[in-house]
Amino acid sequence: MSINNNATASSTIKKDDLIVIAGAGGFIAGSLVRYFHEQGFTRIRAIDKKPLPEWYQRTPGVEDLCMNLEDNDNCIRACEGAKEVYNLAADMGGMGFIENFRIECLRSILINTNMIEAAYRAGAERYFFSSSACAYNVTLQEDPNCRALKESDAYPAMAERGYGWEKLMSEMFCQEYWEERGMKTAIARFHNVYGPFGTWDGGREKVPAAMCRKIINAKDTGNNELIIWGDGNQTRSFMYIDDCVLGIDMIMHSEKLIATPINLGSSELISITNLALLAEEIGGVKLSHKHDLEAPVGVAGRNSDNTFIKEKLGWEPKISFKEGLIKTYAWIEQQYSDRKAGKRTVS
Ligand code: NAD
Repeated sequence: MSINNNATASSTIKKDDLIVIAGAGGFIAGSLVRYFHEQGFTRIRAIDKKPLPEWYQRTPGVEDLCMNLEDNDNCIRACEGAKEVYNLAADMGGMGFIENFRIECLRSILINTNMIEAAYRAGAERYFFSSSACAYNVTLQEDPNCRALKESDAYPAMAERGYGWEKLMSEMFCQEYWEERGMKTAIARFHNVYGPFGTWDGGREKVPAAMCRKIINAKDTGNNELIIWGDGNQTRSFMYIDDCVLGIDMIMHSEKLIATPINLGSSELISITNLALLAEEIGGVKLSHKHDLEAPVGVAGRNSDNTFIKEKLGWEPKISFKEGLIKTYAWIEQQYSDRKAGKRTVS
């Protein structure tokens, strides 16, 4: 496949080359496995520390392995024979998780440190790392009407404590494996990704999924109240999962972006209150908003400046937030009713 003549896996490697994807029991990597499978790749190895029955998605014909990738020997086994390695494994979640479990977030450095070395030793041609907008300097994000973040805004460094610093350090590993050892690496800074098969309950969910769940629950129980974390004025942009996996493929295979951190996010900014109103509109309900001012809210405002990605790829995430949220809401509604019926659900 070629988007605006950009290189992708299909135009770069053979269909039977081995693709290794870490974190595949989770949201984005699970979707990436399915995406490559749909592109016709026949040898995909998917790895996660979660037991296989707990994976969010499993794609037929894929080699699924349950392994903890903090462990060096497991990383060596994971990367054996790999042509390309995608590392999306991390201990992470929404604000409720990353503000309260900084040690867990920091420990993800073990995964990337061991995976990138194992990929290099296995002779992999390309290595992808999923970084985050949390790597940006937090002092630039103190206003809901913030200016969008461009790639150079990560330095001077003042990343999100824990999670953001781990991302920044792992980015540096990727840059040095190219500089010192010549392995092609790719680094995408994701800005909030959402969509079907994302975590929607349990404490690690992000705000779009949490809002949909709360509204579905309010409709189900007849409780007319919607609790919003913070004053609701904080702003974010959200990228739909289909744009994310396509962006990963193009960034990984662009010769112009080797070892170069790049934003992968939507530039459509929305406040949390407006997100709630949109989700209510989709759900066909009007709720009374209550604010929890003690809840974790993260930075006041964050948006993705897409000048660089447009310049390098002639592309940016395209799916509107409304279109993506309609699909996400419908999927969570189904999950909710499946759970009530005693069926297995994603989270
Ligand atoms: P997720 O939690 O759904 O998936 C991550 C997976 O990694 C989980 O299934 C988890 O079990 C696995 N994992 C954690 N520790 C592991 C270990 N030691 N060994 C093997 N597997 C391990 O998260 P996601 O939303 O799919 O995020 C994927 C990547 O993208 C992460 O690196 C995350 O930091 C990054 N990211 C995500 C977002 C977002 O909005 N979802 C935003 C910025 C960055």
